Amino acid sequence: MARTMLVVGNWKMNGLKAQLGEVEAIGAIASSHAGVEVGLCVPATLIASASGKAGGAFIGAQDCHQKESGAHTGCLSAAMLKEAGATSVIVGHSERRTDQHETSADVAAKALAAKAEGLKVILCLGESLETRDSGKAIDFVLDQLAASLPEGAGADWLSIAYEPIWAIGTGRIPTMEQIDEMHSAIRGKLRDLIGAGEADGMRVLYGGSVNADNAKDIFAIADVDGGLVGGASLTAAKFGPIIEAAAG
Ligand code: PEP
Repeated sequence: MARTMLVVGNWKMNGLKAQLGEVEAIGAIASSHAGVEVGLCVPATLIASASGKAGGAFIGAQDCHQKESGAHTGCLSAAMLKEAGATSVIVGHSERRTDQHETSADVAAKALAAKAEGLKVILCLGESLETRDSGKAIDFVLDQLAASLPEGAGADWLSIAYEPIWAIGTGRIPTMEQIDEMHSAIRGKLRDLIGAGEADGMRVLYGGSVNADNAKDIFAIADVDGGLVGGASLTAAKFGPIIEAAAG
């Protein structure tokens, strides 16, 4: 099934208003590559100002709370993110699973909260180096997928991002064979969980040290439908060639 390539930048805790020029430049590159869907998940403080400048790119958030409102100091609901201008949100990034001790059940609940507000969701999965070295990476990621997948998961609002933790920000990536093996395993598990129709339409992104040099090879893998990109999404100079690689 033909799936539109999706390339999303995750700015993490980087970016002040001084960087809005980069948002604008990335948005302009996105506008000239209409065959690729491009997004930037910026810090929440930048969502409102970035959404007016993003051109052909959408603006997303990096997390949302699973509740609609309440006594959750410092947290943001999906409705707040949407009102600020976000159209998408990342859930379950490994940095949040580790730093904020988010469980897969939390991640599934966050995804449902985002969907209830009409936000699209990018759900992250990935194994540690210890798990990879023990030979259990595929089992681990498939279990994490089953536990994190929200009820009613559908290709029109949910994408998966496979991000081996040991590849994030390290410059070290799995071999193309390892990425291929993991992505086909994820696709197969999705078929079991939500049926072939939805599974075959769902984008499965690769994330972890994607850059201008490796993007083309990674995006050529059959079950890779784009990328979630951290460090190399912070400037148009670095992100532009990755968008171009996705355009083929
Ligand atoms: C990420 O954290 O989502 C990520 C993929 O980071 P990087 O591209 O910097 O490895």
